Amino acid sequence: MSGEEQFKKIISHCKEYGFIFPSSEIYEGLAAVYDYGQNGVELKNNLRLFWWKSMVQMHQNIVGLDSAIFMHPKVWKASGHVDGFSDPMIDNKDSKKRYRADVLIEDYQGKITAKIDKEVAKAKERFGEKFNLDEFLTTNERVVNYTKEITRIDEVLKAALEMGELSKIKSLIEELEIVCPISGSKNWTEVRQFNLMYSTQMTATDGESELYLRPETAQGIFVNFLNVQKSGRMKIPFGIAQTGKAFRNEIVARQFIMRMKEFEQMEMQFFVKPGTEMHWYSYWKQNRMKWHQALGTHDQNLKYHDHLKLAHYANAAVDIEYKFPFGFKEVEGIHSRTDFDLGKHQEFSGKKLQYFDAETNQNFTPYVVETSIGLDRLFLLQMCENLVEETLENGETRTVLKVNPVLAPYKVAILPLVKKDGLPEMAEKIYNDLKFDFNCFYEEKDTIGKRYRRQDAIGTPFCVTIDYDSLEDQSITLRYRDSMEQKRIKIEELHRFLSHEISWKNLLDKV
Ligand code: ATP
Repeated sequence: MSGEEQFKKIISHCKEYGFIFPSSEIYEGLAAVYDYGQNGVELKNNLRLFWWKSMVQMHQNIVGLDSAIFMHPKVWKASGHVDGFSDPMIDNKDSKKRYRADVLIEDYQGKITAKIDKEVAKAKERFGEKFNLDEFLTTNERVVNYTKEITRIDEVLKAALEMGELSKIKSLIEELEIVCPISGSKNWTEVRQFNLMYSTQMTATDGESELYLRPETAQGIFVNFLNVQKSGRMKIPFGIAQTGKAFRNEIVARQFIMRMKEFEQMEMQFFVKPGTEMHWYSYWKQNRMKWHQALGTHDQNLKYHDHLKLAHYANAAVDIEYKFPFGFKEVEGIHSRTDFDLGKHQEFSGKKLQYFDAETNQNFTPYVVETSIGLDRLFLLQMCENLVEETLENGETRTVLKVNPVLAPYKVAILPLVKKDGLPEMAEKIYNDLKFDFNCFYEEKDTIGKRYRRQDAIGTPFCVTIDYDSLEDQSITLRYRDSMEQKRIKIEELHRFLSHEISWKNLLDKV
């Protein structure tokens, strides 16, 4: 199956099984805005909880925060978002479509990379076992030229972005003869910067002021640094974690929930003593990769992408990328942000945001190492990694969402074999016993086979079937989602079994 086909399947699965719906669908939807359905909200809540537990519950020196979406407008001036948070955009005059100019160029580079991949595949076939990838990449003339061209484009683009020379980006698009994917024409406007923040008005007694919907959750943490440090008597190094909605006017919203206008972030700012930031940067870089691996994501689908060009406030930055069906893309960023943010807020607010170190009797502005992950992208990662189609021995296929049991929307489905003779009553009793500790699904309709398939598709790790024997021996049939193995187990043992199999400890222990 091609990446594109796989991705289409995931999107339609999300809709069919109540994970994700387009926003306001009965009104034709709203571009790049999505709603989470009955199963989606459970999976999303569980992912958020796993992040929260790993950060806050597992670290003595990390605490949480829930700051407001609205903030004083000066916050965004201080953070640099008012002046600098923008994307270079270009319009095609024929299709009237707007594109991110840098993305058009990156897509062009992607096409060259695909040519390299093709050459490699051909050579692999030709040379068989003797094929040496490194040697091929450095000696094959065509491939060497392709690589040189990618690097040259990179350099021109980076220099233009750094210097804010938008006309040079336009020239590069012209030179590479990039055409609009819709109209096929090269009839482009100039490149212009568009700010990504949404603004709105707040009415107060002394008039109106312009407010922004936060484009990231991090600033709520910075402005509360002293409040938390003082009220919690926190000693450096310590962290503040927060999850919440962020809003960006992404003009080119693509790829389902990968790039949304309203999305959710999970960010943790770790405040450290200047000079120790590289130690903590490398600690969090490793810790976050381990966290993704603990969820069962395969190593070959995860990689680091070090930032070669650093933002002006950062002294080190890396992304954790996942191999989505459309290629490796960022899921999470780990950034060493120096004292830029606290420094700027001190400057703009006129308030000291410093830490008093009792050991050295000195005040200093802490440095910050942040980890920042998009909850929606993580959700998409889980879908791409765990939604599999299997062919069974009888030739039928089944679709299974093999997420970690702790994350599954429902932990157990309670299924009376038939809708009569006391079986539903017995099943309801089991449901009522388990529901306090586990999210249970109850269903009486359809054949048991169909009911199993539906539970597989939404990722329920265990099904419990109550049959006529159950009335006699107080046992049920327990079915495993992944192996489809079935076994009889006493009803009185069910709670202990589920507690053992669905354990936060097992998952958190791996991080
Ligand atoms: P990108 O380069 O993909 O636009 P970014 O570098 O701007 O992302 P950050 O500002 O570092 O992203 O935000 C941290 C995380 O928030 C990202 O790693 C991503 O998971 C998530 N994120 C950012 N923008 C969006 C969006 N528009 N929709 C969904 N998730 C997003």
